[in-house]
Amino acid sequence: MPIEFYKHNLGTEEKESIANALDSFFLTTGKRVLDFEHQFSDYLGIPYTVGVNSCTAALHLSLLALGIGPGDEVITTPMTFVATTLAILHVGATPIWVDVERSTGNIDANKIEEKITNKTRAIIPVHLYGNLCDMQKIKGIADKYKLAVIEDAAHCVEGARDGVRVGELGDACCFSFYATKSITCGEGGAVSVHDAALDKKIRSLRTHGMSVDAVDRYKTYKHWDLIAEGWKYNMPDVSAALLLPQISKIDAFWSKRKDVFDQYYAQLKNDFEIIAPIQKSGYHLFTVLCENRDNVLKFLQDKGIGCAVNYRSINTLSYMLAKFNLGYGSFPNSEYIGDRTLTLPLYPKLTEEEITYVCSVLLASKNA
Ligand SMILES: *Cc1c(COP(=O)(O)O)cnc(C)c1O
Repeated sequence: MPIEFYKHNLGTEEKESIANALDSFFLTTGKRVLDFEHQFSDYLGIPYTVGVNSCTAALHLSLLALGIGPGDEVITTPMTFVATTLAILHVGATPIWVDVERSTGNIDANKIEEKITNKTRAIIPVHLYGNLCDMQKIKGIADKYKLAVIEDAAHCVEGARDGVRVGELGDACCFSFYATKSITCGEGGAVSVHDAALDKKIRSLRTHGMSVDAVDRYKTYKHWDLIAEGWKYNMPDVSAALLLPQISKIDAFWSKRKDVFDQYYAQLKNDFEIIAPIQKSGYHLFTVLCENRDNVLKFLQDKGIGCAVNYRSINTLSYMLAKFNLGYGSFPNSEYIGDRTLTLPLYPKLTEEEITYVCSVLLASKNA
């Protein structure tokens, strides 16, 4: 029984929405993007959202808009997708990795202060697998040293911890709508902020630094000005058309993923070390830690089960190793997880039968 690593939930409503977008003849950033921004902001309870074409762009623009650049240091985690660190490199700043908690894979807030110098300007926590970082502690440190906080929430739209929701305490919160994320348009992203001036800056930076968006330029032609050195990161209306119908389904998808997660957890908890949910997790990924991970990965793939590795500790990847020379031993917990973590299929369409099959193959791998 072949089991896909991921199946999206786009269906009739999304097809209709795309058809309407095509009928309107307006393809780039317009009314649908604005609608998406407002509705997504409403869902999150954060006043402003800017639609962009990836979470990587969202992270990059957040750093730029907060004035972070060459000579600055940004604290983040090595247990994440490379985009988190690449965005810091994109603005010419220096990433400073802090090891993660072994039990969650999230940045260890107790180890942040010792890495702060007079060059530190920001912290980028990543809510790994859907579990919120300890945002109260991180925000406390940020306030004490006057640092910005940019949340990488690519794994977590729905989560909350200690009464704090995703994006509530950060200056900017970055989301991904990449093909395998919990809501998706293939490629897309957004940044949500609390401050009107920051929203305005990011809005301009996503379209080259122009003073107005395309929708305003073309209603009737108006001169526009260039007010900053920006990038080409705007979200097109075609993408927003795919995303819009999904917003009202976020909680229903979440509850189905929680159900899948709970079933995996019940069947595997006695035999595997598992990164468990913390309070209200986003339940984005289900991961188990395996001593001989690469063999187990092959065993599952040979049986038709799609899996992935999220992630190998990024300090061990060739480019980072050559650039920073922080090899094995530098971040023991991140490397521990990176060498062992294996991601199983997790999405609302996964059936009980499929979950049980994945578990039985995984358990059989122990004796293979
Ligand atoms: C997917 C992901 C990103 C990048 O998202 P894109 O939309 O593909 O740029 C960044 N950080 C994390 C943790 C991710 O999982």
